[in-house]
Amino acid sequence: MALIVQKFGGTSVGSVERIQNVANRVIAEIQQGNQVVVVVSAMGKTTDELVSLAKQISVSPSKREMDMLMATGEQMTISLLCMALKEKGYEAVSLTGWQAGIQTEAIHGNARIEHIQTERVQGLLNEGRIVVVAGFQGITADKEITTLGRGGSDTTAVALAAALQADKCDIYTDVTGVFTTDPRYVKTARKLQSISYDEMLELANLGAGVLHPRAVELAKNYHVSLEVRSSMELERGTIVEEEASMEQNLIVRGIAFEDNVSRVTVVGMEDQLHTLPTIFTTLAKHQINVDIIIQSIISSGEPSISFSVKTDDLQKTVDVLSQYADTLGYERIEHESGLAKVSIVGSGMVSNPGVAADMFEVLAGEKVEVKMVSTSEIKISTVVNQAEMVRAVEVLHQAFQLDAEMAGAK
Ligand code: ADP
Ligand code: ASP
Ligand code: MG
Repeated sequence: MALIVQKFGGTSVGSVERIQNVANRVIAEIQQGNQVVVVVSAMGKTTDELVSLAKQISVSPSKREMDMLMATGEQMTISLLCMALKEKGYEAVSLTGWQAGIQTEAIHGNARIEHIQTERVQGLLNEGRIVVVAGFQGITADKEITTLGRGGSDTTAVALAAALQADKCDIYTDVTGVFTTDPRYVKTARKLQSISYDEMLELANLGAGVLHPRAVELAKNYHVSLEVRSSMELERGTIVEEEASMEQNLIVRGIAFEDNVSRVTVVGMEDQLHTLPTIFTTLAKHQINVDIIIQSIISSGEPSISFSVKTDDLQKTVDVLSQYADTLGYERIEHESGLAKVSIVGSGMVSNPGVAADMFEVLAGEKVEVKMVSTSEIKISTVVNQAEMVRAVEVLHQAFQLDAEMAGAK
């Protein structure tokens, strides 16, 4: 008898009919003789609606109360799914994050799981019950409810699979697997049979919303066998594993992108040695996440530093830099929004030095201006105008032969 963790995302539980469908998918595993722990998200756009309700009441609601509010979304789904299972003749028990023993650090809105006390879930499984756990939430040592960051139900599922030493963790969603790029934007995107943890982690971190990055990190660290598949269709999904056994030699396996990127440039730093670290320490203290950094040391002109931030953080970034203008010592700040980040990812890049050049050439051929670049062993990210984002993804997708027509060609 295998232990399987099944996770169903928001769209998959978005209506009564969909919840019935999920119940059937759970029952199918039980009928195979397996034990099942189910993790569910809030129904459809419930979490967005809860956030919007809060914003109508307060421009900056307390993070504690936001967590209290957002955690209710998943609680609705667990009880409804258990009722559906019961109606179909199966014994299921719903548990909130804290009831399932999911302990997190004391950070509201983006807490990391520290530990899972599995006794209760294990006990219920031993009694032959199906256990349905609310995703995205946990509890601190001080008994405060926390959430794990948007998209965090994936992380709940993988963490439970690791803690319970489950045989497998299936992530059921609204696409049939992990594609070469987001299939909602690029029609020729192709489903991958498998992808390595490292490649998936890069894609997830670079904007491919199909998996929560921390879920992939956990799966890698605890060797959780992961499959991303459709809740509506029966076909097999994408296996996320140590080394992608298929298509191993692909230089580029996928393309990720994200919009709402802004570039900030600090021009005319008086004392570069001192200003450079101080800028980033100051931004970090104000919880501003800086992404790509480019420093230009111009011997004759003004030394400047450019970096990218999420557009949501742009105003705060400018305010903080202005507030500390005297201590930082610079001439002026320039900024530009309406940008996007487009990244190519593939483990084959390590041994192929010309990939960046190919990427720039393809973009130049399409007259897409590259405003910033950053690279690692298995990825190259470029910042481009947001208006050109999808076109850039499409031409790169074609140039690196990721299109559906090319399936099986490599
Ligand atoms: P869920 O609610 O099930 O967690 P998400 O919306 O979080 O679903 O993730 C699924 C979505 O991820 C898809 O609908 C798709 O638009 C998006 N996505 C982005 N990049 C990819 C990719 N490379 N492969 C598949 N889906 C992707
Ligand atoms: N309901 C949460 C969200 O919308 C968590 C999740 O769906 O994974 O972000
Ligand atoms: Mg998700």
